[in-house]
Amino acid sequence: MQQTPLIDLQSVSYTYASQSKESAHPALALNDVSLQAQQGEYLVLLGHNGSGKSTLARQCNALLIPTSGRALIAGLDSAESANWRAIRETVGMIFQNPDNQIIATVVEDDVAWALAVRGVPALEIKERVAWAMQAVGIAHLRGMPPGKLSGGQKQRLAIAGVLALRPQCIIADEATAQLDPLSRQEIVALLHQLNQDFGLTVIQVTHLLEEAALAQRIVVMEQGKIGMEGTPAQVFADLEQLRALKLAIPEPLELAARLRRAGVRISPAALTVEAIAQELLQ
Ligand code: ADP
Ligand code: MG
Repeated sequence: MQQTPLIDLQSVSYTYASQSKESAHPALALNDVSLQAQQGEYLVLLGHNGSGKSTLARQCNALLIPTSGRALIAGLDSAESANWRAIRETVGMIFQNPDNQIIATVVEDDVAWALAVRGVPALEIKERVAWAMQAVGIAHLRGMPPGKLSGGQKQRLAIAGVLALRPQCIIADEATAQLDPLSRQEIVALLHQLNQDFGLTVIQVTHLLEEAALAQRIVVMEQGKIGMEGTPAQVFADLEQLRALKLAIPEPLELAARLRRAGVRISPAALTVEAIAQELLQ
């Protein structure tokens, strides 16, 4: 039996007010998108710049409300302002620029901030903050000023602040975009770990194919619509379509495609140079 999806977007369209002023035919930032995310799922929302990823992500925690269609989060309709608080507690968001998410002058106070605002008792705040910092690997930084942290550590801090609110889902909207390659990998690995350890639903938004390799499901956006959808192996098997959706194809995928054209059998699941090398050895 199919359980109720945690996030259920039903024929959602969205037009920004500023767009409609500029043009007689306002472009739809989202055009009749239906998308469900199940409890505990790891979903990657992929697409080139301007394809509608952030607009879609913001529909999932009532930061934006559909112009038409419905967004149900844990069964709550985002069109009802009475549901906004519960929806935002269910779905937490992390954004691209870690500096914009920092509020306090000490790491542990920053993690505690949103709890304190909500009037959570001090003892419980202490427990939840300690747990959240542990979960993201920044317990040793608790007394530091956030300004002294690296970009990757700042994103861990942002994740801890959201985790402390005990959401069912985290949406990371290009949360790795300003990080160096190693920190990127580490943040993606952390999101996967939180998904596995706590059954947290994760929606990872990115324009980089290589960051999508470990997803359970990939949804590719193009011009406010879903352009492609499937497992990484399914999606990465169609390089022509990915190029048509204006995505940069990573080297290993090109390599695997070239080898296949030369008659070598490479499984569609081989998405890294290491995995391809392994297949060649077999
Ligand atoms: P992505 O996150 O994939 O880069 P967005 O969801 O930010 O895409 O943008 C989708 C479309 O909506 C783009 O055409 C973009 O220019 C437009 N858009 C995004 N934010 C705004 C805004 N605040 N006002 C007007 N148009 C916007
Ligand atoms: Mg965006």
